[in-house]
Amino acid sequence: MGLKSKVLIVGGTGYIGKKLVKASLGHGHETYVLQRREIGVDIEKVQMLLSFKKQGARLVIGSFDDHRSLVEAVKQVDVVICAISGAHIRSHQILLQLKLVDAIKEAGNVKRFIPSEFGTDPSRMAHAMEPGRETFDQKMMVRKAIEDAGIPFTYISANCYAGYFVGGLCQFGHLLPPTDSVVLFGDGNQKSIFVEEDDIATYTIRTIDDPRTLNKTVYIRPPANILSQREIVEIWEKLIGKQLVKTSLSEKEFLDMIKDKGYVDQAGMTHFYHFFYEGCLANFEIGDDAEEACALYPDVEYIKVEDYLKQYL
Ligand code: NDP
Repeated sequence: MGLKSKVLIVGGTGYIGKKLVKASLGHGHETYVLQRREIGVDIEKVQMLLSFKKQGARLVIGSFDDHRSLVEAVKQVDVVICAISGAHIRSHQILLQLKLVDAIKEAGNVKRFIPSEFGTDPSRMAHAMEPGRETFDQKMMVRKAIEDAGIPFTYISANCYAGYFVGGLCQFGHLLPPTDSVVLFGDGNQKSIFVEEDDIATYTIRTIDDPRTLNKTVYIRPPANILSQREIVEIWEKLIGKQLVKTSLSEKEFLDMIKDKGYVDQAGMTHFYHFFYEGCLANFEIGDDAEEACALYPDVEYIKVEDYLKQYL
């Protein structure tokens, strides 16, 4: 492989964005991070950006409200990775990427664009429930814009972030594992896929100079982390040496609960419905038109759910 691509990370201060900055620097890429003019007095963000600079990143000032600034930013690099927000509990700005796509199209030099996806493959979610389907619909609009503009891309389907899902044993609204009881989605046997966030960033960075991933979806499916909620609970029980009291929430009970919630919870809960009742992440084979990250990069030692859970002991 030739010289390492120069990478611009947009949304670099975000939850997954900062992991991408770290992985890009760690893999020896000249790394640029967009510093948005709208930063205001967000001291945490300013300090994070300064720490990226200290680690070797270059900060590029720009704004989504200034097309020229985006064009100038992307002109400096070979690869653009966008990690803009797309979880309703935090912020949801997926469609802003259409402006980035316009800038990449005009600049004309970008060899690879990785849009902000890093979750469920939106192309498989045409049947998704409202209101959570907004995320998938918007990600598909961004895909269409990318493909219409002829921009080379890789779509990363990272499945469930470990931090959001493993910690709380997949229970909605929980990030820490219980030591007394747990509520299972139905029988708890539907398989999902869990990936630690630094591993997501590592696999993502590995794809950018890899011709095998050009214009393809890359699914991240660590074999040891394709697990049901019940299996995750059992791993935790083994670690704490204690059985949890298990209750089950039927599909109907869960759907009824969604109705009474506000928009943000509804959006998240409908995603949980698809993952844990329908099994949408693991219920299909990866076709010949896509790739799987652990098979492409077998040298990456990904974090297994059991080891991830040990940090909560
Ligand atoms: P964050 O909520 O952490 O936000 C990421 C960044 O988006 C921010 O740091 C900021 O970057 C930028 N941003 C936020 N608001 C605006 C705005 N108004 N204008 C411009 N930029 C803005 O994002 P996440 O890391 O939670 O989400 C990133 C991706 O990961 C999304 O596609 C999301 O759907 C996906 N995701 C996947 C999950 C999974 O389990 N697979 C779970 C959660 C999210 P800056 O200020 O640096 O420009």
